[in-house]
Amino acid sequence: MKKYIFNFKSEVSNKINLSKNILGGKGANLSEMGRMGLPVPPGFTISTEVCELFYKNKRKINHKILGEIDKELKNIEKDTGKKFGDLNNPLLVSVRSGARVSMPGMMDTILNLGLNDETVHALANRTSNMRFAKDSYRRFIQMYSNVVLGVENYNFEELIENYKLTKGVLLDTELDENDWDGLIRDFKNIVKKKTNQEFPQNVREQLFGAISAVFLSWESHRAKVYRKLNQIPSEWGTAVNVQSMVFGNMGNDCATGVVFTRNPSNGNHQIYGEYLINAQGEDVVAGTRTPQHITKKARIASNESLPSMEESMPIVYKELKKILHKLEKHYKDMQDVEFTVENKKLWMLQTRSGKRTAKSAVKIAVDMVKENLISKKEAVLRVEPNSLDTLLHPTLDEKSNIEIIAKGLPASPGAASGKVVFTSDDAERLNASMQNTILVRVETSPEDIHGMHAAKGILTARGGMTSHAAVVARGMGRPCVSGSSEIEIDYEKKLFKVQDREIKEGDLITIDGSTGRIILGEVKTVKPEISGEFSKLMNWADNYRKLKIRTNSETPLDSKTARDFGAEGIGLCRTEHMFFDEERILSVREMILSKTKDDRLLALSKLLPHQKKDFIDIFKIMNGLPVTVRLLDPPLHEFLPRTDKEIGEVASSLNIPIKELKVRITELHEQNPMLGVESEKKIKLNFLVGTMIELPRAAIKANDIAKHAEFFSFGTNDLTQTTFGISRDDSGKFLNDYIENKIFDIDPFVSIDEGVGDLIEIASEKGRMQNKKIKLGICGEHGGDPKSIELCAKIGLNYVSCSPYRVPVARLAAAQAQLKK
Ligand code: PEP
Ligand code: MG
Repeated sequence: MKKYIFNFKSEVSNKINLSKNILGGKGANLSEMGRMGLPVPPGFTISTEVCELFYKNKRKINHKILGEIDKELKNIEKDTGKKFGDLNNPLLVSVRSGARVSMPGMMDTILNLGLNDETVHALANRTSNMRFAKDSYRRFIQMYSNVVLGVENYNFEELIENYKLTKGVLLDTELDENDWDGLIRDFKNIVKKKTNQEFPQNVREQLFGAISAVFLSWESHRAKVYRKLNQIPSEWGTAVNVQSMVFGNMGNDCATGVVFTRNPSNGNHQIYGEYLINAQGEDVVAGTRTPQHITKKARIASNESLPSMEESMPIVYKELKKILHKLEKHYKDMQDVEFTVENKKLWMLQTRSGKRTAKSAVKIAVDMVKENLISKKEAVLRVEPNSLDTLLHPTLDEKSNIEIIAKGLPASPGAASGKVVFTSDDAERLNASMQNTILVRVETSPEDIHGMHAAKGILTARGGMTSHAAVVARGMGRPCVSGSSEIEIDYEKKLFKVQDREIKEGDLITIDGSTGRIILGEVKTVKPEISGEFSKLMNWADNYRKLKIRTNSETPLDSKTARDFGAEGIGLCRTEHMFFDEERILSVREMILSKTKDDRLLALSKLLPHQKKDFIDIFKIMNGLPVTVRLLDPPLHEFLPRTDKEIGEVASSLNIPIKELKVRITELHEQNPMLGVESEKKIKLNFLVGTMIELPRAAIKANDIAKHAEFFSFGTNDLTQTTFGISRDDSGKFLNDYIENKIFDIDPFVSIDEGVGDLIEIASEKGRMQNKKIKLGICGEHGGDPKSIELCAKIGLNYVSCSPYRVPVARLAAAQAQLKK
């Protein structure tokens, strides 16, 4: 029989990526750590292929596989000297999901499995700790009932909260074994009431129920949303890891924590993480207790009084530090590690490549080259081009009026302003009508993923730097301030209280995810500063790429920004955009509406100095680099007044009757301006004269056009609309439906469609056949899209041209395209 179950000590492939396909990321890394000789609790992985079989087999695990699982369970029993369901020395296991790529918090986990009314006493005897055993059992009942039996968590939370109120205590740790006993009874009653069945006492039934639930969680709503946002194919499925439990909640010489080998926010080469004494895994990530620092330095820097792990458990800390170093050397990447300390013994529960901000990704890639861990090529390939966007975006203008109302943790950098909303659905709803929001939650959960995506920023009242909100926001590049204990949220009244104030739903606030500040109102932002590492990485990228990167710009300001970001010329200067300025547009209107040649010349003479000055400035900024100027290509009605108020103003400034102006506007209205045919004006100067290619016919007959054109600039925006026969102005209404229903894989206005790509390729070949020296480039919005850039590199174009802020993204994407060729 084909092998579907793998002990952590067995090797699937010596290539980690191949192992991941079968064992999932978590499983592959656990077995890798096992073979490195690190302290990993014994266990096994049920492969991702079983997930597929599970769905094919009407959502059931087939008998042969169940038999294999039983066999592997025996191996764990041998390794640990414990027995599953035993009344003397019971084995408890965790059951965790693990897809090929990590999907933090998206799928289910069950801990302490194997406890029932009898084994709980055995555990108590073994550990001489009745309170611990009872606490573990009630956690298990809650988790299992929630994940496998579908009883919502609040039922249990409510029972605990009410109990604490009656007893007059604040913390769970203040409840003793008798308290938990009563609560266990209440928990079981709730389960019976909600599911019409007893809480399962048979440990095998518990195990198979949990494994099935993990497979089912692959198709949960939140997992589906996450997959869609991260382009993870649904066929991949998840693996399941069954692992013997170790306990971080057996007393004060126990702990559990999450640690990064470097700082995931800024990339500094320092261990960075959090831990909780006497707690179990999920407590750190869930954000229900605010964790303590791992290192003394971090504790002092943040002015905390509770001891760091370095101070409270110095020996274990040293061992952990050694292991982190070993892991980084082995994986040659920053690692995100979960660990547990059980009675002073350190156990490694997970390692994976850590999610990081763009700033940190750049710094780590460059530092690792310096440390001889990776090559420059690898460094260039390490950074996701689109992620640079967050680095290039503006930060708060410190000179403006900043009224700080509270502070939290700087969980994900960047600044954002928006209206306060308290639910993810509201964030999504307002986003649909183009309104910026800040999603404010006590803490986020995986159910909030759509809201976090829709909001411009996220603010939470609870949770640390590794809480769900922080991790997910960093991955998405959303600014996030987490764990602001100064704010008090009232979901019912839709407001939060801070100091003496009430901030209501819809009020404007600003958050600064780089410093943790929460600010009243909207704040102005400034251009970002580019770090030394950033320039270094960009320089390395420039050495690998063949495509030139130009920019689309028509103002001196944008041209300067683009040059600073490394643009190698202007690929498209839309002259009509030079007049989109309040003062200038009036002269354009006069020109368009003038009836006589003299009037027209008069209007033009007012425009001339502006345009002349801009061109001089632009040419100076570009300092000899190519500048492609597109001659006037406007739909005339774009320049004309629309509202009655505007029409009135223009009529009076032109001194003509309103009625006459309205007639002229109607005459000039173009039904389908984008589909008009361009005429060329050739000037005999030291210029190249070329053309936009925006129509399929132009692409097909490119050899004819190349007889007259010295360059082709593919206007991929228009070429996309003319190829599909859809309009870029209203396709937004239906494109999402097309994508959701898999009619299109991706929005063709974002990434160049294959058919449009073919047209570009045909035109390029034909153009080059006619004129070997012809220059080829694209200047539609696709010029800043990494996937489209890869296509342009493949076709062998000379350049892509994109908006100024996309220039670095394009430089990196072009290098990666070349390296992947
Ligand atoms: C294009 O169509 O791709 C293009 C660059 O021109 P515009 O967007 O100005 O129509
Ligand atoms: Mg166009």
